[in-house]
Amino acid sequence: VTIGDHFDSVVAKFPDHEVLVSRHQGIRYTYHQLQLKATQLASAMLKSGLQKGDRVGIWSHNNAEWLLVQVATAKIGVVLVNINPAYRVAEVEYAVNKVGCKAIIVMPSFKSSNYVGMLQELAPELPKCHPGMLAISRMPSLRRIVWIDVAGQGDDIPGMQRFSDWIATGDQLDPQVSAVQQTLKNTDPINIQFTSGTTGFPKGATLTHRNILNNGWFVGECIELTDKDRLCCPVPLYHCFGMVMSNLACMTHGACVIYPNDAFDPLLVLQTVQEEKCTALHGVPTMFIAELDHPQFKDFDLSTLRTGIMAGSPCPIEVMKRVVSEMHMSQVTIAYGMTETSPVSCQSSVDTPLDRRVSTVGLVQPNLEVKIVNPESGETMPCGESGELCTRGYSVMHGYWGDEAKTKEAVDEEGWMHTGDLATMDEQGYVNIVGRIKDMVIRGGENVYPREIEEFLYRHPKVQDVQVVGVPDERYGEELCAWIIAKPGQKLDEDQIREFCKGQIAHYKVPKYLRFVEEFPMTVTGKIQKFKIRDAMKEELG
Ligand code: ATP
Ligand code: MG
Repeated sequence: VTIGDHFDSVVAKFPDHEVLVSRHQGIRYTYHQLQLKATQLASAMLKSGLQKGDRVGIWSHNNAEWLLVQVATAKIGVVLVNINPAYRVAEVEYAVNKVGCKAIIVMPSFKSSNYVGMLQELAPELPKCHPGMLAISRMPSLRRIVWIDVAGQGDDIPGMQRFSDWIATGDQLDPQVSAVQQTLKNTDPINIQFTSGTTGFPKGATLTHRNILNNGWFVGECIELTDKDRLCCPVPLYHCFGMVMSNLACMTHGACVIYPNDAFDPLLVLQTVQEEKCTALHGVPTMFIAELDHPQFKDFDLSTLRTGIMAGSPCPIEVMKRVVSEMHMSQVTIAYGMTETSPVSCQSSVDTPLDRRVSTVGLVQPNLEVKIVNPESGETMPCGESGELCTRGYSVMHGYWGDEAKTKEAVDEEGWMHTGDLATMDEQGYVNIVGRIKDMVIRGGENVYPREIEEFLYRHPKVQDVQVVGVPDERYGEELCAWIIAKPGQKLDEDQIREFCKGQIAHYKVPKYLRFVEEFPMTVTGKIQKFKIRDAMKEELG
């Protein structure tokens, strides 16, 4: 089945269940209301000339319109292109042109980001254009720019169309929409997602209905989502964590997804969980840390929480333990995956023993395969030894859009996706992520996994967060460097850290360079960009 067909079947079961709460907009939809609105938007898209296979971009923080666009495009086979709200002029130009977007839906501004302004900079000819018939020299495929308005408010923007005006041209019961929906195949591409850009330039992964619908379903199964669940989703929708593991996981199970805000704010997450009686909460590790360490944390009643997913980057055991004990999320799981695999390939289930659940990324997901290989020879490694994690099955992307060579590098002839991540697997099949191949440090011939040292330093009572990278060194090839954020109100210095390491870890694992910082360079997904830490150190050390 396709995403649209599956969605319709869930609507038929739970028409009056709430499916969406967008707190910062004050919007609530039931499944039936979402179906009507999404059909209306799909109808408007068809009427404005968009067809199955056309690409439409969305460049926005989290909001109700995002979900409407996700469902509407899925119904008529328009390929949704998720554009990172952190992108600036050159990046959005690249993304739009790379995949040939015919339309782009944009949030007008956010804090100091003026999205409309950036598009106007790219398209000075806009005031002379009629919305729907743009001719822009720097983005030649683009025919329409739609800005997300608060219905009827704000001045018109020359050359651009209001979201509320656009949707109003559609028909909530348009038979054309279901006619097109019937022609779709589950192997059709439906989504292009750019990777996070944690290690460099983002790549556009093309995903099909089959890829992401199945993944959303199985991710929800692992945490036993039902139509009674209410999931608080502070993770960005432009990323698979929001779009698939939150929106699709909920929509395939009759559950409700709740956006606490347009962008992450720990206080609003805590408030949302309490006020909306959320049963589940997702986040990357840095989000959970910010919530747990919030000065008002203890003021909130989070007792309705049961489960949720931590994912996206290495999940420290200590943080997982605190999530279990202090946030009442006794059934929390870790998931491991990547954009190119829709995303999840390993995940614990709620009945995985707790010690495994907090310390591993769980077992391979149903209907997928995972193997750990020697990155050079391709041979499968014995249990317990680390190698590159490869995965195969329904979840592996269609390919990088318009980049066959890169696709072939990533997905081999037998269909295995080579993830670039180092992992081990134990006898029972539990997978542990050791780090990224690119992040492994070789110091004087010894392989050092930053993750191990991070986990160790994290146990220091004054350490809030820590990142370890390798920096070039004439003598040893590479030396270790740790960037440390102290807990609020705590003072940390080199001596305290060195004292803490003494006799506890091998001398060559004690970072030579220690830096105490306020924050790490991060993607909007909350992932730490180690390459930027390395670059900063290279600059500092000359
Ligand atoms: P880019 O590919 O552009 O450098 P990225 O790899 O961070 O960015 P994503 O597809 O968003 O882009 O993230 C996938 C990566 O995140 C994985 O390859 C892995 O390195 C890391 N990751 C995801 N989940 C986990 C986890 N549970 N534990 C450790 N690492 C994880
Ligand atoms: Mg990647």
